[in-house]
Amino acid sequence: MMQKKMYIDGQWVDAESGRTTEIIDPGNGRGVAVVAEGSRDDAKKAIAAAREAFDYGPWPNTPASERGRLVCRLADLIERDREELARLESLDTGKTVEESRWDMDDIAGIFRYFGGLADKEGGEVISSPIPDSTSELVREPIGVCGQISPWNYPLLQASWKMAPALAAGCTIVMKPSEITPLTTIKVTELAEEAGFPKGVVNTVLGPGSAVGAELSESLDVDLISFTGGIDTGKKIIQAASGNVKKMALELGGKNPNIIFADADFDLAVDYALNGVFFHAGQICSAGARILVQDDIYDAFVEELHRRISRIVVGYGFDEKTEMGPLISAEHLAKVEDYVRIGQEEGARLLCGGKRPDDPALEGGFFYMPTLFADCENDMRIVQEEVFGPVITVERFSTEEEVVQRANSTVYGLSAGFWTRDPDRIKRVSRALRFGTVWVNDFNVYFTQAPWGGYKQSGLGRELGRMGLEEYTEVKHIFQNSNTQPVNWFGK
Ligand code: NAD
Repeated sequence: MMQKKMYIDGQWVDAESGRTTEIIDPGNGRGVAVVAEGSRDDAKKAIAAAREAFDYGPWPNTPASERGRLVCRLADLIERDREELARLESLDTGKTVEESRWDMDDIAGIFRYFGGLADKEGGEVISSPIPDSTSELVREPIGVCGQISPWNYPLLQASWKMAPALAAGCTIVMKPSEITPLTTIKVTELAEEAGFPKGVVNTVLGPGSAVGAELSESLDVDLISFTGGIDTGKKIIQAASGNVKKMALELGGKNPNIIFADADFDLAVDYALNGVFFHAGQICSAGARILVQDDIYDAFVEELHRRISRIVVGYGFDEKTEMGPLISAEHLAKVEDYVRIGQEEGARLLCGGKRPDDPALEGGFFYMPTLFADCENDMRIVQEEVFGPVITVERFSTEEEVVQRANSTVYGLSAGFWTRDPDRIKRVSRALRFGTVWVNDFNVYFTQAPWGGYKQSGLGRELGRMGLEEYTEVKHIFQNSNTQPVNWFGK
């Protein structure tokens, strides 16, 4: 079994308390690694190291081109160790190894993008209304960043935070989810190999209620970047108020996928499946809420049913597997609970709604892909984030009605719609209140475009140029060259 430590101030260390956590393979319920389990004390040490490295170390003043070179070097190392990283990610999350390979390529690209962007951020000279003066805007690294990532896309979500923070000249304390730390630990090893100065990258392992809470509360942390659930996000907002630290929050989603009757039918069905079933639906942007216009409703539901019934559920390392397990026994119980609620609410269960019958999958946390039809706007399975392989389908008649229904949610992460009508494309893409709107697609995102939510889906943006700007402060430097006194007071 693998044994892993935390990385604080350039040293691999055990938890102060000596405690450890066992990491479980969700595909069979067996232990795969034992990792250090940090506490508030360990988080404090890591914060102190990051503070020292920011206030007195070379990193914030290292030329941006050199910072970018190191971030790109890390991208090269991720590419070199792609297969090992992909296998670790699948072991830890249960997702298919093919999906993890795709993630690793994406992650290398993220480090390369932000490494390349590091020296592209020039300042700006603005027009000053005061004679004989100059006014300059410069961007500076924000400082020590606490970074907290979730279990669903462990390294991908960590990379959205690590890459821009390091490129901007910040120092970081990364806390991966306590159940999926393996790839973040491996990338920390690669960061050490790449040669980041001591204290710039720290990785503390342990529960959110201790390590995450300390990062959120600490007066020595300047920015907290968090991806996870809304309830945890709200706790972090409160905890962060002590020193009014900056916040970047990527919270959950319940993402409508609207199919108008004039859509390309086959493509819309195909993409609807892609929009949900990667990583067994444990995706913040899953298009798990599908709304279909009257004329094609029955045919669309039938075709969804046909395709969903054919999805191959299995162990992530089996090449035939299309969909792996859920992350944990607790999460499986939560999804099962939602399916029971959906049935009680009167939604029509067409397939799934149970664990697989295959005895070979008994030890893992598997759940069959599930389809509910005839759902209503106010059902809990429609409004709440199930975070599993569960689709709900609603019927609608008019454009006005569907836009109003799609917007009637506390979430605002992403939405998609399918139509061939160019006028409707203009109207609906502006009317939907979500951070990302896909037209004739679903779930496509890339490094160059900002990602983040309206409403309770979060604060700020990750990825794109804006993802780098989150890690900077803007300073206005005003210089007066006027030698005439003002003579306003006491002349
Ligand atoms: P979670 O909120 O339970 O945990 C996320 C992280 O927060 C973990 O590292 C956890 O240890 C930590 N944490 C828990 N309590 C904390 C506290 N009191 N203070 C500080 N940190 C604490 O979320 P999860 O179950 O790991 O992830 C699933 C959620 O993440 C879903 O809601 C999903 O939509 C969301 N998510 C959002 C995005 C996005 O881009 N918007 C991306 C991925 C996941």
